[in-house]
Amino acid sequence: MRLILLGAPGSGKGTQAQKIEKNFGAMHISTGEIIRENINSKTEIGIKVEKIINQGKLVPDDVIIELVKDILNKPNIKNNFVLDGFPRTIKQAEALDKITQIDKVIFIDTNIDATKDRMLKRRVCPLCGKTYADTLVCPNCNVALVIRSDDNEQTINSRFEVYKSQTSPLIDYYKQKKLLFKVDGNQNIEQVFEQIKCILNEGNI
Ligand SMILES: [Zn+2]
Repeated sequence: MRLILLGAPGSGKGTQAQKIEKNFGAMHISTGEIIRENINSKTEIGIKVEKIINQGKLVPDDVIIELVKDILNKPNIKNNFVLDGFPRTIKQAEALDKITQIDKVIFIDTNIDATKDRMLKRRVCPLCGKTYADTLVCPNCNVALVIRSDDNEQTINSRFEVYKSQTSPLIDYYKQKKLLFKVDGNQNIEQVFEQIKCILNEGNI
């Protein structure tokens, strides 16, 4: 199966992609993770991308497309993957069409305002840096949690802006191609995955 997971920040794409990998054997391909790995192991592309990110800019389409193309050409991945975090723009989607044929696109539909609110309210431990949504004290360090810094608030706001302007047009793009399947993402992880399972068990992919 060749799948794409679409959804706003905080919609749980990564979690659901992992569950699809575990239950259906499709390789979970997270472009964010691949970029981080390249930065950490200081590959040529990693060094280039790190500079771009440090300037506060978005990684250009052609760099990400090149990375994805390399991965999707691997024989063990070619026909068996779930993309998480790619495509993020129409330009990336058009490039992907030239690389492979997608079977289904699953859109995890969430209430954007509620998710954003929840992300902005998340508290972080000043000692271990872990993030918590529903407690005021870090269970590991036993110190009071703090609200994320303005810097993070700005990052969260800009992630949602980028999603609205660049990524949400993909919903119509794939709807027109009759590849889009929508699930209600305002439920718990297991309920969302039940819906995804139904979609993946339908038809031959
Ligand atoms: Zn802590």
